[in-house]
Amino acid sequence: MIAHRGCVALESDPADMSTQIDRDRCKGCGLCVVFCPRHILKLEDGLNRAGYHPAVNHDLDACTACGLCAEMCPETGIRVTRRKKKPRG
Ligand code: SF4
Ligand code: SF4
Repeated sequence: MIAHRGCVALESDPADMSTQIDRDRCKGCGLCVVFCPRHILKLEDGLNRAGYHPAVNHDLDACTACGLCAEMCPETGIRVTRRKKKPRG
């Protein structure tokens, strides 16, 4: 288990990981966008309830679950968690 401030990475298999950003907690500072090594975060054009352009992950499959975005977020608004596996059929 990897634990960061504001982030919990439950497993290490990148294929199963997901970045979840609390849209309304985000203040649009852009730190996570700048520090994501995969460049998969961006600020939305729209505004959240607080009037900020929130960050969004536009390529979840490319996320390596490094947790850097969650570590950088001053609002502790990002969690990196394990995605539910789709049943094989
Ligand atoms: S966990 Fe790492 S790769 Fe995934 S969005 Fe955050 S900084 Fe980018
Ligand atoms: S670091 Fe946090 S507050 Fe700043 S843009 Fe990213 S999610 Fe929003």
